Amino acid sequence: MLVLRLNKAGMPQEWVLPEEAARLYCQDKVLFELGATACTLHGGWNNAGIRSELTLSSIIACDGKVTDVSGKVALCNRYLFRRDDHLCLYCGQRFSPGQLTRDHIIPRSRGGQDKWTNVATACGRCNHAKGARTPEEANMPLLAVPFRPNLYERFYLMNRRILADQMAFLSSHFSRQRNWQEGV
Ligand SMILES: [Zn+2]
Repeated sequence: MLVLRLNKAGMPQEWVLPEEAARLYCQDKVLFELGATACTLHGGWNNAGIRSELTLSSIIACDGKVTDVSGKVALCNRYLFRRDDHLCLYCGQRFSPGQLTRDHIIPRSRGGQDKWTNVATACGRCNHAKGARTPEEANMPLLAVPFRPNLYERFYLMNRRILADQMAFLSSHFSRQRNWQEGV
């Protein structure tokens, strides 16, 4: 599992390995815990024959500088396909990542930018059929409005193995209600 580290304002900062989370606990950096699930790490044995252990929460908020990391996740196909739930936004069918492509809604050859709001997940067939045309010109309306993920949505995109309580925390801050499922 990965632990979701928040800053003291409760905003996601990074996904960390349990060992890294343990280090934060040991340094007294953990201010509060929000996770419902926990994992227990076992350490060494002391002279009295007692083994040290540390229980970690799945969501921890830590002291330190508050940094805005909302702009740090670049557009890449893995996140794009996950944003669109591995559905082709033209034909509506679900595909495996290897069959999907990044379609530029306004084609790049026509000045369309490579940014979240101008890209859609498309199967190879639809992308080819659309060619260097806009959806209107190709008569291929988009099935969903492409959006730029907010901070919480980005943290969802970054981790494929999100625990239920972590998902509940993140999704309560999603910019829109979506029927996001775990990746294909
Ligand atoms: Zn398609």
